[in-house]
Amino acid sequence: MSEVYQNYIGGQWVSAVSGQTFDDLNPADTTDLIGRFPRSDARDVDRAVQAAREGFAQWRRVPAPRRAEAVRRAGEILRRRKDEIGRLMTREMGKVLTEALGDVQEGIDTADYMAGEGRRLFGVQAPCELPQKLGLAVRVPVGVVAVITPWNFPLAIPTWKIFPALVCGNAVVFKPAEDTPLLATVLVEILTEAGLPGGVVSLVHGIGEEAGDALVRHPGVDLVSFTGSTAVGRQVATICAAEGKKVSLEMGGKNAIIVMDDAALDLAVDGAVWGGFGTTGQRCTAASRVIVHEAVAGAFTDRFVERARRLRLGSGLEPSTDVGPVINARQLQRIHEYTRVGRSEGARVLIGGEPATDGALARGHFYRPTIFADVEPAMRVAREEIFGPSVAVLRAKSFDQAIEIANATSYGLSSAIYTRDIDRAFRAIEALATGIIYVNASTIGAEVQFPFGGVRQTGNGHREGGWTVLDIMTEWKTVYVDYSGRLQRAQIDSADR
Ligand code: NAD
Repeated sequence: MSEVYQNYIGGQWVSAVSGQTFDDLNPADTTDLIGRFPRSDARDVDRAVQAAREGFAQWRRVPAPRRAEAVRRAGEILRRRKDEIGRLMTREMGKVLTEALGDVQEGIDTADYMAGEGRRLFGVQAPCELPQKLGLAVRVPVGVVAVITPWNFPLAIPTWKIFPALVCGNAVVFKPAEDTPLLATVLVEILTEAGLPGGVVSLVHGIGEEAGDALVRHPGVDLVSFTGSTAVGRQVATICAAEGKKVSLEMGGKNAIIVMDDAALDLAVDGAVWGGFGTTGQRCTAASRVIVHEAVAGAFTDRFVERARRLRLGSGLEPSTDVGPVINARQLQRIHEYTRVGRSEGARVLIGGEPATDGALARGHFYRPTIFADVEPAMRVAREEIFGPSVAVLRAKSFDQAIEIANATSYGLSSAIYTRDIDRAFRAIEALATGIIYVNASTIGAEVQFPFGGVRQTGNGHREGGWTVLDIMTEWKTVYVDYSGRLQRAQIDSADR
């Protein structure tokens, strides 16, 4: 009998009103049932939002340095339990243990950063045009924040949102991805252990179209902070526009590495392997395209394929494993469908291109690392996010053409260039139309103290991470204090005419 988990609403662990559950399976071995989680609907969401409104009324009055102490304590618990949580993550979503530990570390780093923010949360003071008048702008919380997250960073991404939301004085209703409900439960348990009062954080498990949709629509939610696919993000944005809600979106990517003819080729191959196949290609910043200068395309591709051939598939808990499973059967099918699409468009599959089913792999969702050659920029495999271990190699005749190809997608999250020419590197920084750019490093590797996000179909103008997340999680309140004791009229009494 597997364990049955609950929602966390108003300081209580409770089942879904419907009594229904959904299963959480290990993607490396689907005979391993991790647990059953509540399949919540609009009624559960309503209870959580009501509790959050009450929680918010209290929490906003707690001074920010005190609020930040709860986040600091959560970070300490994460640090203490890092290894155990990393193992749970690998079991629940498949990424290899070293990467799962990195995911937990990102949560710890975010706690460290945001705990300090409790004593900053800087406002702005500027001179006033009238004498004996003080003008300043301060940050105030937004209210109840709906946090909706994907499964690929089941701890880090929720902490990017929840920790700053709490330090800024908001209450949170958290609807995690249905593929990683256990890690979400662990995070909320840690927040309660860290001393957050009931109602300040609620957890509502469930399916996106049910619990997620109800949460986005709920009139008691002031801000929706969403990370996930562009298709769902657009729907969320449409609902929020109609309801007049603030919404922050972090969505898909089709990130490119450019390899110039003067690149350190082995370094570029390292970057392509790590960016393309790390996390089984399931990162929003994954390097799903490599654009190689034609002068080195042959040499680069040979080495890239050779390295991909040596990657070992398996359970992420095995130290020998390089590439873990993909998240679920639907995603496995989708990745394989893209192999078919690529072939039918004229791309050549150099390696992989099929599910891996030998031995124990048959019990999980494994796909062989796949490299397409002869890819043209207009092909679907060069434009659409596959979100799996599939990399398209394209050729460019020049630097300018490489940049043009890199920018020829509707996404704009991350990009990279390998070159030893400093002028080219800076011209690339100027020309690449993405929110994040790497020079001589792969498209992945963000650090929490910097803005994270992208342009075009990747985002809607917000940036998580660093100080910029505060603009999502707060509103500005502008304050004028006139201590002259007389009527002073701005623009009129101050005008020199
Ligand atoms: P997804 O869009 O299917 O789901 C994301 C979340 O939204 C889940 O919690 C899901 O339950 C919920 N959801 C689904 N339908 C909903 C609806 N109608 N209303 C409200 N909520 C709904 O994405 P996924 O498969 O979990 O994650 C993969 C995607 O996430 C990829 O496109 C990837 O690029 C993107 N991603 C982006 C970033 C970023 O920061 N830009 C980071 C990680 C992942």
